[in-house]
Amino acid sequence: MKPRLAVFSFTSCEGCSLAILECENELLDILNLVDLVRWREAMTETSDDIDIALVDGAISTHHGVEKIRKVRKMAGKVVAIGACAYNGGLNALKNRYGMGKLKNMVYGEAGAEFDTIPARPVSAVVPVDFALPGCPIDRDEFIRTVRDLALGKTPTLPEYPLCVECKRKENVCVFFQGKMCMGPVTRAGCGAICPTFGDGCEGCRGFVDNPNVNAHKDTLAEHGLSVREVMQHFDMFNSYNERDVS
Ligand code: SF4
Ligand code: SF4
Ligand code: SF4
Repeated sequence: MKPRLAVFSFTSCEGCSLAILECENELLDILNLVDLVRWREAMTETSDDIDIALVDGAISTHHGVEKIRKVRKMAGKVVAIGACAYNGGLNALKNRYGMGKLKNMVYGEAGAEFDTIPARPVSAVVPVDFALPGCPIDRDEFIRTVRDLALGKTPTLPEYPLCVECKRKENVCVFFQGKMCMGPVTRAGCGAICPTFGDGCEGCRGFVDNPNVNAHKDTLAEHGLSVREVMQHFDMFNSYNERDVS
């Protein structure tokens, strides 16, 4: 029997779900390994009998909290996909404001009616079996992960920084072009796509385990930059703090 796979979306642009749809050439291979039983974006059938639930999006409403708890009860494994689900991603930027002020800023007086709570990663509400970072997820990494899960293996993520991938590609370091880059402390896995196309990494894959912060500080100092300046860039995808939701 093939594992039964479902995809759920929470607060997000749903770009990570779309990234799955864009695995055009590989989708048939994936469907040889799993039975797709529920996915609002791609099918009308639905099922509560689920082995693997892929979840994109942060949890940022009371309704979302209830829904992810139901998903957790239904599914054997829950896998967070994309920065929003992995660590709150861009959504966590709203946590800087009180929810009352935020609702008023966005919706004016009608804001009081809106169900919104500080955004949090899926793992802050229910146990997660695996989480894939990235905004959006990396297609190859996604396919490897689904393959591993379908075969009962534990997926893994690269445990080295983005600079390793970037140097393998023989890119010219963007620091030498006067740009900022979070590559020295960001988890690899995207093929260093932003520096490859001449942009600094914004850290959408989050910190690598045990980042060598001192080495990054030295690199910044060489280029006349401070940690404070560079952390403002890292904040875009990594501003979630447990204190905001406790
Ligand atoms: S991680 Fe990025 S691409 Fe994926 S759902 Fe969130 S905002 Fe969209
Ligand atoms: S700092 Fe950025 S551009 Fe420079 S090597 Fe590392 S990842 Fe590449
Ligand atoms: S280079 Fe950095 S910002 Fe760009 S996709 Fe990779 S981790 Fe994300």
